[in-house]
Amino acid sequence: MTLDALTEHSIALIQKFCADDQSITCAFSGAEDVVVLDLLRRANRSMPVFAVDTARLHLETVTYIQRVQQHFNLDLTWIKPDPKAVASFEHQNGRFSFYEDGHLACCNLRKTEPLRAYLTQFDGWLTGLRRDQNPNRGTLPELQLDPVFKGLRGPLKKANPIASWSREDVDTYIQRYNLPQNPLVQQGYKSIGCAPCTRALKPQEHERAGRWWWETASNKECGLHQTPLPASKVV
Ligand code: SF4
Repeated sequence: MTLDALTEHSIALIQKFCADDQSITCAFSGAEDVVVLDLLRRANRSMPVFAVDTARLHLETVTYIQRVQQHFNLDLTWIKPDPKAVASFEHQNGRFSFYEDGHLACCNLRKTEPLRAYLTQFDGWLTGLRRDQNPNRGTLPELQLDPVFKGLRGPLKKANPIASWSREDVDTYIQRYNLPQNPLVQQGYKSIGCAPCTRALKPQEHERAGRWWWETASNKECGLHQTPLPASKVV
């Protein structure tokens, strides 16, 4: 499919997903998912947008998210972890325990649980997930019922409007429409998460190789997006 065709398809999907009086929010990670924000604009759908501030992000990512907020005039909410829980966790485990016993406990504390609370206000959310990001996402549906979180009225709908896009499609879209980019991209980063858990890529490496690089390649999820649970009728 051409980039123009992909774009039209994704805009139509967003319009369908956000067509009724449901309460919908959109994730922004501070990376190439800026494409989804531009698709929302083109679809004439405005909604609350959130970014998860783990307090371990690169300064470049924080300033980039603020620049994107201004660029799109976003209604942006920073999701933050419970400071007491973080202090207690760090007191018990240290600030870098993820290098020893894996990233899931820290990600759960700083990302998953704060987001769980936030999403209970909504009926659905949009993400910038793509199938080509890693093998775990190879069967990602465009529309699903969220397998991790609950929404305002029970099941939470989830739309992944660029699920079928490739990394090349995304990069081409950003260049073609001159969207702001995280300055870390110029330093060799592609998939961008927290500073201690993200490194620049080496030549020929897959984009997720820079995330939690000390762990096995099959363990590149933080808990927000588990194995998709397909839903044939969510809109
Ligand atoms: S990516 Fe690293 S620092 Fe960020 S929440 Fe996960 S384990 Fe913690």
